[in-house]
Amino acid sequence: MIESKNPYTGESIEKFKELTKPEIDDALEKANSRFKNWRKTSFKERADLMKRAASELKDNKEEYARDISLEMGKPITQSIAEIEKCAWVCEYYAENTEKHLASKSIKTDATKSYVNYEPIGVVLAVMPWNYPFWQVFRFAAPALMAGNIGILKHASNVMRSANNIQKVFERAGFPDSCFQNLVLSSSKIENIIRDPRVKAVTLTGSKPAGSAVASAASDEIKKSVLELGGSNALVVFKDANISETVKTCVQARFQNTGQSCIAGKRLILHESIEDKFMDEFVKQVRELKSGDPMDEDTFIGTLAREDLAEDLEKQIKDSVKDGAKIILGGKRDKAYMEPTILTGVTSEMSMFKEETFGPAIGVTIFKNDQEAIDLVNISDFGLGVSIFTEDMKFAEEIVPEFEDGAVFVNELVKSDPRLPFGGTKISGYGRELSEDGIREFVNRKTVYFK
Ligand code: NDP
Repeated sequence: MIESKNPYTGESIEKFKELTKPEIDDALEKANSRFKNWRKTSFKERADLMKRAASELKDNKEEYARDISLEMGKPITQSIAEIEKCAWVCEYYAENTEKHLASKSIKTDATKSYVNYEPIGVVLAVMPWNYPFWQVFRFAAPALMAGNIGILKHASNVMRSANNIQKVFERAGFPDSCFQNLVLSSSKIENIIRDPRVKAVTLTGSKPAGSAVASAASDEIKKSVLELGGSNALVVFKDANISETVKTCVQARFQNTGQSCIAGKRLILHESIEDKFMDEFVKQVRELKSGDPMDEDTFIGTLAREDLAEDLEKQIKDSVKDGAKIILGGKRDKAYMEPTILTGVTSEMSMFKEETFGPAIGVTIFKNDQEAIDLVNISDFGLGVSIFTEDMKFAEEIVPEFEDGAVFVNELVKSDPRLPFGGTKISGYGRELSEDGIREFVNRKTVYFK
């Protein structure tokens, strides 16, 4: 049995029976046979259904958001915002797929030559619990619009949300088996990846999970996209607008109770603004309201599971042992961790080297611009970086110096359906969202007429 537990109360929410071998086989067979006619549907037919999925999400956002908050402790207003964003990605691909996947004519010595972007079949998505709807929709909307079929292996602690996602597509009127949630533990995934009916896999999650999934896929010569962790830096240069930057940095680190791959996890400050910045930053973090995730005033909920809070507590304690100083928070109560700030963090400490997945931030000071760039790039992760400066010419000049998949200037790193999203180094490979994302799981077919 797979169990959803409320991390705020510790109570069991629901238990789910894992699929048996024949049930898995049946699901894959249905998905594969659905592909044979789904691939022939027009962009207009798919877009009409995808717009209905968007309406379904908007019309019932409270219902879906409530289960997210119950299962993984996300404050309810943030769960509602997540559902609204899912509606946006559905609408975005409903409106843009025909343009993204239009055949591209290329002049050669042929009478006619062009590239077609055709669907590949059943694509498996292995997804995490931190944005239980959004992580799945940003895969599912482009996959289905491209003419592919989606099967989902969701994180074990958010299985009710996983079933709800399948319900969204069913309620919108998608044909049976266009999108199925498979109630499975991760030990069953390798066989599914190796099944010839499954053509590709995408995973969002940790490095060990990504490595296991990508190894099986590459062994079978199947395409994979990996969106793994991040340890984004927030770099504040000496000329930054302090009050705006503090506000943005608080959001960047503490929204979703810090459990985001693109959260700003390493605060890197120029020595000349340290005191002014930290006074205001500590004040604003202290004011963040912790509490019951179902309460509309709550900004900091619990972490999604108690073991995740324990991991974060260990990273904090290890860093303190290595010389960092806690200036706010630091205490844990079961799955709840106080918003925490550590100063004196160096590149050898856990708070800097590892991904910290919760409401804790380490502060590191730099003296010159090159040192700041080096501190960003020294990380094994490469998802994104935010830089804060009033000098746009300087910002443009240093953008190429960063090794990350994204550089945001005076803004937190965020995902947007219109922009490609993904990392470098151990943050993964491939891109989601935008035209780049929808082209990951298509056959770019070259066509040549003599
Ligand atoms: P995991 O990476 O273990 O879980 C993500 C998904 O992968 C889940 O669906 C999980 O299933 C599945 N999975 C795990 N191991 C395997 C495997 N060997 N084969 C196939 N599927 C697998 O994340 P955790 O929940 O353990 O979180 C640990 C850390 O990972 C976090 O603290 C954070 O650092 C990082 N993380 C990053 C995320 C991101 O957005 N990039 C999201 C979530 C976590 P199951 O739940 O059944 O194990």
